[in-house]
Amino acid sequence: MKPKPVEHAIVLIKPGYSNRLKEIRSRLEKHGKILLEGKVRLSPKEAEEFYVIHDGKPFQQTLVDYMVSGEVPFLIVSNKPGKKYNDASFRQWMREHIIGATDPIEAAPGTIRYDMGDRTPDVEDKIKNKEIKKKRMQNVVHFTAADEDPYYEIGVILRASGWFDALPEQAKRKEDLRILLAKLTPKK
Ligand code: GDP
Ligand code: MG
Repeated sequence: MKPKPVEHAIVLIKPGYSNRLKEIRSRLEKHGKILLEGKVRLSPKEAEEFYVIHDGKPFQQTLVDYMVSGEVPFLIVSNKPGKKYNDASFRQWMREHIIGATDPIEAAPGTIRYDMGDRTPDVEDKIKNKEIKKKRMQNVVHFTAADEDPYYEIGVILRASGWFDALPEQAKRKEDLRILLAKLTPKK
């Protein structure tokens, strides 16, 4: 059987959750391979660029304001060679079993978004409800979904954090990183 092609994803630890980095890293490492780690402070333009697929949605501004409000550690992960993900893609499997649904109330117990997120249920009061949902939807981490483009997302984050320029030549010669970097198009 042919080995599965390498599949990448980026995890962002959202503002306010840096103290969970160690725990999140150890959960990711059990099922995936961590290729690169860093941190970034996004500008509004960079946050909009990262979340371009949500352009014009009612929550876009809330999301961008939140993402620029603090430091964002990031981890670039890939599937572990030889590990089976029950026929699902690596990203689908990780999302279902390790990350959890967008709304922590809907996330499966044991996932990051369930365990570390805010799971306050909605209330009758419309104004309160909006605030509760806003807090809940901060949902601890970003993870490249199956319908999102990891190389676009990784490109935005590596440029914003200065990693494209800072990656030492030695690191670029590592096979894992060469495969990843070859898939990115550096923007001049
Ligand atoms: P994800 O791929 O599971 O992160 O979810 P999406 O790509 O649909 O949305 C991106 C991010 O926008 C989510 O992780 C949430 O932080 C935020 N978001 C999505 N839907 C809502 C919403 O209805 N209200 C608010 N306040 N934020 C939302
Ligand atoms: Mg998404």
